[in-house]
Amino acid sequence: LAIQSHPSQQTVIKLSPTVAFGGKELVIIGGPCAVESLEQMEIVAQQLSAAPVQALRGGVYKPRTSPYAFQGMGEEGLEVLATVRSRYNIPVITEVMSISQIEVVAAQADMLQIGSRNMQNFDLLKALGQAGKPILLKRGLAATIEEFVMAAEYILSHGNPDVVLCERGIRSFDNYTRNVLDLGAVAALKQITHLPVIVDPSHAVGKRELVAPLAKAAVACGADGLIIECHPEPEKSVSDARQALSLEDMVNLVDSLKPIAAAV
Ligand code: PEP
Ligand code: MN
Repeated sequence: LAIQSHPSQQTVIKLSPTVAFGGKELVIIGGPCAVESLEQMEIVAQQLSAAPVQALRGGVYKPRTSPYAFQGMGEEGLEVLATVRSRYNIPVITEVMSISQIEVVAAQADMLQIGSRNMQNFDLLKALGQAGKPILLKRGLAATIEEFVMAAEYILSHGNPDVVLCERGIRSFDNYTRNVLDLGAVAALKQITHLPVIVDPSHAVGKRELVAPLAKAAVACGADGLIIECHPEPEKSVSDARQALSLEDMVNLVDSLKPIAAAV
């Protein structure tokens, strides 16, 4: 179901009446790694909606390496997302980590993110078939392209046709950058599947000063969109502080992508 049957087949996935992945327009998703407070998300929503960024991100259930690290605001964070969503009329995307979270998140968010660590959580993927919302499926930390496509296949074959693939970097021998952005995979996925493909340069590179060049390369390479972490006070981010852009840098980056998107 995920594989292209002819070279021009392209699925378009609507996020709202005006925002769609896989269409002519580049879709940019921006926001913090984690929702921290209503005040934080108000500032983010206000500045990014004017950029314009087409959708907001912010984790409320966070897959943290350490069980002692901040695990996310949970349902209180979902309320924050719902508030900025309606106040700024902008779609919101957030991660679900378990089957039990699907219903409550789907009631508030426009798209459900499946994180790298859950890319092969097959029971979760099957349950997403009935989520009733588009899915942003992130590539596993060390998943092959075939494993990635087959993970999408689980969701599609269980009844949900709206899956957007997200390349977010894969593990390699060199930890100078957090991961290695696999642009070859982006080009390959665009050829072998009809699903929209977006890129997360933030988790791929892990250092804020390297996010912009990778974002530009991703657009030039044919990505249908980007998901980028940014924060009103990047150094104070409760998670992934090292890769968070300031809102000003985010707005400037969005501007600099326009001519590249127009040229591809
Ligand atoms: C995130 O988007 O904050 C995240 C945890 O991403 P990934 O699953 O790609 O590590
Ligand atoms: Mn993050």
